[in-house]
Amino acid sequence: MRRWSETAERVAATSRTSEKVAILAAYLRTLTPAELPLAVTYLSGRPFPERDPRTTGLGWAAIAAAAEADADAEDGALGRAYDRSSDLGQAVHDVLAASGRRPSGELPALTDVDAALSEIATTRGAAEKTRIFRTLLWRCDPLTAKYVVKTLSGEMRIGLREGHLETAIAAAFGRDVEAVKWAGMLTGDLGQSAELARDDRLDAAELTLFRPLKSMLASPAADAAEVLMRLGSPVWVEDKYDGIRAQLHRRDGEARLYSRDLHDVSGQFPEVVAAAVQLSWDGLLDGELLAWKGGTALPFQQLQARLGRKKPPAALIAEVPCIFVAFDALALGPGDGAPVEPLLRLPLRERRARLDALGLARTPGFGVSNLLTAADGAVLERHFAAARQRGNEGLMVKDPESGYSPGRRGYGWLKLKRPLATLDCVVVGVEVGHGKRHGVLSDYTFAVLDDRADATKPLATIGKAYSGLTDAELAEMTRWFEAHTLERFGRYRVVEPTVVVEVAFDVIMRSSRHGSGFALRFPRIVRLRPDKPPSEIDRLATVERMHEQLQAGVSYRLEAGAG
Ligand code: AMP
Repeated sequence: MRRWSETAERVAATSRTSEKVAILAAYLRTLTPAELPLAVTYLSGRPFPERDPRTTGLGWAAIAAAAEADADAEDGALGRAYDRSSDLGQAVHDVLAASGRRPSGELPALTDVDAALSEIATTRGAAEKTRIFRTLLWRCDPLTAKYVVKTLSGEMRIGLREGHLETAIAAAFGRDVEAVKWAGMLTGDLGQSAELARDDRLDAAELTLFRPLKSMLASPAADAAEVLMRLGSPVWVEDKYDGIRAQLHRRDGEARLYSRDLHDVSGQFPEVVAAAVQLSWDGLLDGELLAWKGGTALPFQQLQARLGRKKPPAALIAEVPCIFVAFDALALGPGDGAPVEPLLRLPLRERRARLDALGLARTPGFGVSNLLTAADGAVLERHFAAARQRGNEGLMVKDPESGYSPGRRGYGWLKLKRPLATLDCVVVGVEVGHGKRHGVLSDYTFAVLDDRADATKPLATIGKAYSGLTDAELAEMTRWFEAHTLERFGRYRVVEPTVVVEVAFDVIMRSSRHGSGFALRFPRIVRLRPDKPPSEIDRLATVERMHEQLQAGVSYRLEAGAG
């Protein structure tokens, strides 16, 4: 692990992609068979492969406590080190280095780290997990500890993108980078792709039922003109369903659902799984789970009540029943466990024809996305306006000739959406950001005017967002906020409530997290509003009205027969 850590440092030290790739390729070639997949997985910033559902369950507090104890440092030493770097691995490094303590025994090998992380993942109880972690930390020097912690916390920050890593794997073993990427997409396990590349077996990577694939993603498009410029014409248009992205795998009387982060969520949606078991074909469909009752979608907030419930009670299922709305077919076979045919490389037009042939639109528990076409901007704009009228966030626009690229945000699919609404708020608190935004006051807490009769203060907080401002604006605002700080609580500064910002969001929810009694889903700061005095920002009554409108729900279109 020490050599891995030195390699990571060298990768971090250069900004040139070609150098990063060369350093990694040379390193990967030197590894033993057991080390290669581990080294690659850790380089991808994860303790376990992406498709592997294990988590260590070790949080910030446990890591901090273990490092402080190990360094014999006083309470809060790690917090202060973290304030300096906003990087947990670096903070652990600094605390251990300052303590001057020497690691006990031999430095851990990659396989030792893997053994410890695996044991932490399978062990129950925070105390026992922390004990195993401490044993590992004891064996590390500060540099190795830094990278063990970065791997654990999933925040590598060495300026290494997955694409660089794939290029390095290809270069290390003299393989085609596209073949490495494709294997990674199919397996969701770059470590395994590296092994296949080493053994010249990349073509053995294949789609396997009950092993989730990464989802194809959509790139944002600003307007109809951009959509047509990128996709050509005609395009296919579907509602952008606001549910949970899910993949349905089915074979021979067994069915499972996987979330976008490749976790098995079958237990959370037993009614959908039970309906899928009744089907007669085998295969893999891509789609969206929606809460659906009486022929219409329930608001996302109600679907949320179903999330994270490993075994939802029957009453909750009856109140918020879910359906699977399919929009793509990625593999299909006749059933009875006969082999399935992978469809990923076929054009969407063909995949959709196979999907339609399944007749899911008329199958209880299922729906099929409603498909429209648009050959010009005017028609596309009309579809968009109609979708917005139905309370929809926007549209998904797809190129009917595009293949399915797992895990890629390409230009085969575009999303056309505009924020449902924006609020003008005043900034009341700021915090330094993380990573690139380290040292800059980039996290803003903002408030609206509290016009409730019993309000005790003039402002009510409603959210917190990373600022979407430019670097120059951020730097200027940082100086302003530093000069107008009223009070400090650790990293958080209460500031003079003068700066007005426009905040966009997707949904308003009732929440006790903020003083207003509301919270925003996906808030983002769109721009500064120096033209607006704080006395003219939005009022709580406006927020309540917007909340009511959104509660009225969204009406989605599915292919005829659903429900
Ligand atoms: P966003 O979350 O804004 O990046 O939008 C992408 C998400 O939209 C996908 O991950 C899907 O969960 C979701 N989505 C909703 N409707 C569709 C659709 N018809 N086709 C593909 N993705 C969809």
